[in-house]
Amino acid sequence: AATTIPSRLLAAYASEEQKKKYLSPLLEGCASAAVAVSEAGMNIENGPLTTSATVAGEDAWTLQGTKNYVWNAPLADFFLVAAETEQGPAWFLLERDTAGLEIGLADKTLGFQGCAMGSLTINNCQVDNDLVIGPCSNRNSLTALRKWQNEALISIALGLIERCYITALSYAKQHKSGGRPIISYQEIGFKLAEIMTLDQTAQLLAMKASWAQETNSRDTDALLGCAKVFCCEAAEKTASECLQIMGGAGYVKDNLVAESFQDAKYLTIAGVSSEISRMMIADAVLEMY
Ligand SMILES: Cc1cc2nc3c(=O)[nH]c(=O)nc-3n(C[C@H](O)[C@H](O)[C@H](O)COP(=O)(O)OP(=O)(O)OC[C@H]3O[C@@H](n4cnc5c(N)ncnc54)[C@H](O)[C@@H]3O)c2cc1C
Repeated sequence: AATTIPSRLLAAYASEEQKKKYLSPLLEGCASAAVAVSEAGMNIENGPLTTSATVAGEDAWTLQGTKNYVWNAPLADFFLVAAETEQGPAWFLLERDTAGLEIGLADKTLGFQGCAMGSLTINNCQVDNDLVIGPCSNRNSLTALRKWQNEALISIALGLIERCYITALSYAKQHKSGGRPIISYQEIGFKLAEIMTLDQTAQLLAMKASWAQETNSRDTDALLGCAKVFCCEAAEKTASECLQIMGGAGYVKDNLVAESFQDAKYLTIAGVSSEISRMMIADAVLEMY
C-alpha cells in the first residue's frame, strides 16, 4: 500500500517531469512515499480539507496544516499532501527534509504491526509550483484515491478471509477434543460452513464489482461500495470465528489468525468506512431508480 497508492496518484495526475522525478524511483524500488489526507475532525466525504495552501508570489505556495495516520510517514522519502486552495483541492509533493515539515513519531497500531504510521505537522512550508499537482475545480482525484484504497482493502479482505479459513479448517481437522477431531462437532462444522459461504460470496461480489467497473456499468459505484462493506465486514467476522474455532491456540500471540483478527478491524475503518459507504450506496441507489 505504501507504494501502490502514491504511484497510482502520480501515474494518473502528475506532469511528465513529476513522474520522472518521483514515480520512476518508486516503481524501481529506490524510494518510498506516503499519502497524507486524513485530518482531525474531517474526512474526504465530510467536506473541505482544513490543510490550506495559499499562493506565495508567482512561483510558490505556502502550506499549513496537520495530517494524521499517515501510513509510512516515519520512512517515506516524500509525501503527497492533499490541501485546499481557493481554486479547489491540490496535491503537494513535499520531500522529507522540506523546511517546516515535522514528522511525528510512529504511532502504535492494533493491527498491521509492520506498518509505520505517523502524523505530519506542516508549518508554513514553501512549495514551488513544479511540485504541485492541480489545483482542480473538482474533487475527482480525492474520489479516485478513495476508490483505489477501497480496491486495495477489498483485496486484503479476500486474502485475510482465505488464510483464516484455511488455517482454521486444517486446525479443526487435526485438533482433537474428547477423542475426536473438533470438525466432527456440529457447532464447529456449522461455523466452517458459514465461513465458506462468506468467503465464496465475498469473492463473487468483488468479481461482480470489478466486472461492473470494466464494462462501465451504471451500477459500478454502488457495487464497489457493496463489495467494500461486505468483504471487509466478512473479514472481521471470519477472523473472529476462526479464532474461536482454534480456542486457546488462536489466542496465542504471533499466530496467523490472531494477527488477522487484529488487522481486520482496520478494513472497515479505512478507505470509505462501512458507515459512510452505506450512506453512499443509498445515495447511488436513489439516483439509479
Ligand atoms: C493503519 C492505518 C493507516 C492509515 N493510512 C493512512 C494514510 O496513509 N493516509 C491518510 O491520509 N490516512 C490514513 N489513515 C486514516 C484513515 O483513512 C482514517 O482513519 C479513516 O478515513 C477514518 O477517518 P477518521 O479516523 O478521521 O474517522 P472519522 O471520519 O472521524 O470517523 C469516525 C467514525 O464516524 C463515522 N462517520 C464519520 N463521518 C460520518 C458520516 N458522514 N456519516 C456516518 N458516519 C460517519 C465513521 O464511519 C467512523 O465510524 C490510516 C488509518 C489507519 C488506521
